[in-house]
Amino acid sequence: MFIGHFAASVAAKALRPALPFWACVGAAQLLDIGWGTLVMAGVEKLRLVPGLPGSPLDLYFMQYTHSLPAALLWSLLAGLVAVRLWGRDGWWIAAVVFSHWLADLLVHRPDLPLGLGGPKVGLGLWNLPMAEMIVELGLLGLVMGMWVAARRDAGLAARPAIGWFAAMLVLALVNALPGKPPSPAGMGALALFAFGVAIAVGWLVDRADAAQARLAGSPS
Ligand SMILES: [Zn+2]
Repeated sequence: MFIGHFAASVAAKALRPALPFWACVGAAQLLDIGWGTLVMAGVEKLRLVPGLPGSPLDLYFMQYTHSLPAALLWSLLAGLVAVRLWGRDGWWIAAVVFSHWLADLLVHRPDLPLGLGGPKVGLGLWNLPMAEMIVELGLLGLVMGMWVAARRDAGLAARPAIGWFAAMLVLALVNALPGKPPSPAGMGALALFAFGVAIAVGWLVDRADAAQARLAGSPS
């Protein structure tokens, strides 16, 4: 799952418009940003098995980012930082960080550790790539509609939000192109690049909204 995680970012932004959108976007992928970094550092491990349905990733070691206790800890820490920066709305950032683990639970094969050792869970929607794609796009499309409506009520243009959504669709499409998967470290680097783009375009939405708000507030 790549694009579906952002449903939580968009929902949080629609419900708590004071939160910066770039932070909502980053929060949804914080666990995978940690994962990409630790994979590149050789700490967390994966194998690429090209024949696997939906995703070629065999994620056999990712305790520090994708075990349940680690996900809770990352969420708590992100929440504490966000509350310092943006007040009580910051707890929504914690919820968005944790939503990543719940969404992964739905799509991953059983590779998410419940403890630091112990059993691994995953409902495996990845094994049905078509259904998985429909769930991801459906969820994101639904909350996009909610967000655009909330923006309209607040007097904000739909265009920046739609532009971000279009950029995410392009990223998801590039991601889905057939081709030989890169090495594990290359996989981590590619993931970090995609998250960087998603956050940067999210930041552009924040800038566009701030500019529009300034314009609306200035005497004509
Ligand atoms: Zn993940």
